[in-house]
Amino acid sequence: MAEYQYETHEYDVVVVGAGGAGLRATLGMAEQGLKTACVTKVFPTRSHTVAAQGGIAASLSNMGQDHWQWHMYDTVKGSDWLGDTDAMEYLAREAPKAVYELEHYGVPFSRTEEGKIYQRPFGGHTTEFGEGPPVQRTCAAADRTGHAILHTLYGQSLKHNAEFYIEYFAIDLIMSDDGVCQGVVCWKLDDGTIHVFSAKMVVLATGGYGRAYFSATSAHTCTGDGGGMVARAGLPLQDMEFVQFHPTGIYGAGCLITEGARGEGGYLTNSEGERFMERYAPTYKDLAPRDYVSRSMTMEIREGRGVGAEGDHIHLNLSHLPAEALAERLPGISESAKIFAGVDVTKEPIPVLPTVHYNMGGIPTNYWGEALNPTKDDPNATVPGLMAVGEAGCASVHGANRLGSNSLIDLVVFGRAAAIRASEVVDPATANPEPNKASIDKALDRFDGLRHAQGGVPTAELRLEMQKTMQADAAVFRTSKTLAEGVEKMTKIAAKLGDLHVTDRSMIWNTDLMETLELTNLMPNALATIVGAEARKESRGAHAHEDFTERDDKKWRKHTIARVDGTKVKLDYRPVVVDPLTTEAEGGISLKKIAPKARTF
Ligand SMILES: Cc1cc2nc3c(=O)[nH]c(=O)nc-3n(C[C@H](O)[C@H](O)[C@H](O)COP(=O)(O)OP(=O)(O)OC[C@H]3O[C@@H](n4cnc5c(N)ncnc54)[C@H](O)[C@@H]3O)c2cc1C
Repeated sequence: MAEYQYETHEYDVVVVGAGGAGLRATLGMAEQGLKTACVTKVFPTRSHTVAAQGGIAASLSNMGQDHWQWHMYDTVKGSDWLGDTDAMEYLAREAPKAVYELEHYGVPFSRTEEGKIYQRPFGGHTTEFGEGPPVQRTCAAADRTGHAILHTLYGQSLKHNAEFYIEYFAIDLIMSDDGVCQGVVCWKLDDGTIHVFSAKMVVLATGGYGRAYFSATSAHTCTGDGGGMVARAGLPLQDMEFVQFHPTGIYGAGCLITEGARGEGGYLTNSEGERFMERYAPTYKDLAPRDYVSRSMTMEIREGRGVGAEGDHIHLNLSHLPAEALAERLPGISESAKIFAGVDVTKEPIPVLPTVHYNMGGIPTNYWGEALNPTKDDPNATVPGLMAVGEAGCASVHGANRLGSNSLIDLVVFGRAAAIRASEVVDPATANPEPNKASIDKALDRFDGLRHAQGGVPTAELRLEMQKTMQADAAVFRTSKTLAEGVEKMTKIAAKLGDLHVTDRSMIWNTDLMETLELTNLMPNALATIVGAEARKESRGAHAHEDFTERDDKKWRKHTIARVDGTKVKLDYRPVVVDPLTTEAEGGISLKKIAPKARTF
């Protein structure tokens, strides 16, 4: 057995992750008087949330009439009827409050002439329950909204008594023999020490796993560590087959050009200079939801109307917009286009391609952020001591497809909800139970095994093989053949985790070992994605299956529950929550309005 000394820390709550979700949860927990630690592998303001550009959705009605029920309707339709209705209602109702709270915390939002928060149109956000024109619902701080929010939330967190453990890498959860989460084992990257955090509640806010794919807009740190830890604890992941491709990643580089660019009036063209979205989505055109636009672009390329020497991408045009508007509203992406595509947006179109951007799936939770471990008798059974929020979680408000600007609002609404719930279930007056030694030893044995791995495959090589397979076989369009081949290939690739080669054996700033740990986290996420996709014989949201092109609500309006054990994935299903929180008589949405129907734009 591996012999590592460790220091033990005791808290009421340990939040893993300091992105928007982790910081909002940390701040809320501390505010509730809970002794709270926030553990993060990167400096808080370097979390991927910092890169969010376009904005955060809330029905403030600052720039034309809006209503929370319209926001809820759009989210239900955007999810292609896979989201949980209670959670979607909670999101839409709480969103305005959450944005005003951010404003009061000090987020420097862009402003209208009258000094109100500026809001821009975004794909899939409409008026009149999808009957009216696009709505201006997305609150923005120019095209650096995530940056503004993350810095403000970090400042606010420091004001409270939360304690930060920065550049600590969480290795694994500590689970009691009867399935209670008791804390987390961490490795301090800069001095190589091991730390055991004992907690009454662990909140996973570790972000997405975009890096399971070859071309992604996400940071290199988006490696699904929370999903990996949960899978190793024998707990499930939900709806992993739904991976969002953003229509406008810069061709070749993968960096994001925000949907706000189209919100501000930008449009896509093919090699014939045609604004082809008018054909696919006559009403909302370039502002149709992301899955729709990404598929339309892919069809244009497939049919020989792509741009460039190889006809393999699409143009995004902004040069018709006034240069002052570009400088004021889209300064960041103007710079990105210059650096990564060598394009002056005031004169030339930007070369773009659908690029992996967001994971709708994740650790299943209820709308309080409590992690679920569904059983036959109780599909909503919770895991004591464990919560998940943000992109790592799946509440599920995004269902099969997330609307742009609905993630930032998800982070703050559910980060706050988790804190409210924790204040009800965590009793700061009681002592923490002794964390399970066997579970700690298991985590350290795994760590030690990887540290001394002497197999034949370097981490970077295996990672690339996984990324290329996922990119090719679990793409925008999927077929029975590509998915079956993908499952077979990914099973073999995952088996090679047992044959990894790590060169650096030191404990201090060992990036070789850290990337290896991250790869062991990416792999279960990737496996659950492709196995879940292979099994789902329908098309819904981001899952576009060419052999089953219709949505099949009778058979498939259900959440996929995937349990990953090594190279094996066991699938179960869990019913979608169809009941809203409030009835129409209580002021809630009419059930007729949100009944499933064909999703057209
Ligand atoms: C380029 C880009 C632009 C986007 N623009 C928008 C937008 O305009 N509007 C919108 O709504 N959404 C947008 N999104 C999506 C949204 O930004 C993300 O979904 C969201 O920021 C995720 O936040 P998070 O708090 O869940 O995780 P992240 O911000 O990814 O943070 C994860 C945290 O977990 C920590 N962590 C992870 N693993 C470990 C570990 N093992 N040990 C310790 N700590 C760990 C990291 O250190 C980090 O602090 C965008 C996404 C991208 C990639």
